[in-house]
Amino acid sequence: MLFEPTIAGSLPKPGWLAETQKLWPKWKLEGASLDEAKRDAALIWLKEQEDAGIATVTDGEQFRTHFVHGFLESVQGIDWNLKTKMGIRNNRYVVDVPTVTGRPKRSRPVHRDEAAFCRAHTSRRLKWTLPGPMTICDTLADGHFGRRADMAMAFAEVLNEEALELEAAGCDVIQFDEPAFNVFMDQVSEWGIAALERAARGLKCTTAVHICYGYGIDANIQWKKTLGSEWRQYEAIFPAINASRIDQVSLECAASHVPISLISLLPEKTLLIGAIDVASITVETPEQVAATIAEALKHADAERIQPCTNCGMAPLPRDVAAGKLRALGAGAELARSRR
Ligand code: ZN
Repeated sequence: MLFEPTIAGSLPKPGWLAETQKLWPKWKLEGASLDEAKRDAALIWLKEQEDAGIATVTDGEQFRTHFVHGFLESVQGIDWNLKTKMGIRNNRYVVDVPTVTGRPKRSRPVHRDEAAFCRAHTSRRLKWTLPGPMTICDTLADGHFGRRADMAMAFAEVLNEEALELEAAGCDVIQFDEPAFNVFMDQVSEWGIAALERAARGLKCTTAVHICYGYGIDANIQWKKTLGSEWRQYEAIFPAINASRIDQVSLECAASHVPISLISLLPEKTLLIGAIDVASITVETPEQVAATIAEALKHADAERIQPCTNCGMAPLPRDVAAGKLRALGAGAELARSRR
């Protein structure tokens, strides 16, 4: 089937599970009740995705508060009490970040049981998202390695152990989220891709990298205003990504200043075309989604196009995210009907 839809990853947490419309929500339960509630929330979103016609589904990141720290909380070598003030994403926002004080090592499988749970409850293709090595390094202060490339490679080894277990648990797609690729473009070819490929080493399932302009939060909206009328960050990194061993690239296209013609720089890749704007609470019409797919078709074969969301939908109101899922599925169907 052409234009099989998928999503970038995250979905909102229901109000009974965590604070809503926040990127760093607090859980509303604890202990075994929290674990049970996370599973319930994941089930709801699996069903919503299936009903919307999403072909490759995710857990909506219901098991973690944030896509980076949700993984790192189970990694040794990070001192969470030793906070360092750091401008992340090249000083787009300044935050107190934890500090790496030793070689990273997983204390246990992080998401394996969660993935197995989702696998048991859907027959659709299942995608699991992990933070990419460069993005991890841009979220932690380095108090151990001295070189960011070395730190990235060490985290890539840890990610690889996790990714291989997720594959064994039944995931069909492992996606690494690398929003930092759009910020440190020179370092992508210097060591970013090498670290990414290290994280994906030995995987036989489909691999993906998600590169976006971030969630629809204020700091990102302000940053986007500084990028000019055409956003050409992808142009600098796509040739190196096309030459990499990663199968799919998830990118931002809807309501964006990214010239969609840049996808012609990825002739070897499956393209997860962002056809849903996550920075707006207006739900797209199927017609708008189909129009974005039609634009992508001018620069890539239909067989390589999978409509997707621009980024995660975690901070959106729940009904808006559900509406956008349905628009995505209906838009893909509309585009198929026009072939
Ligand atoms: Zn994103």
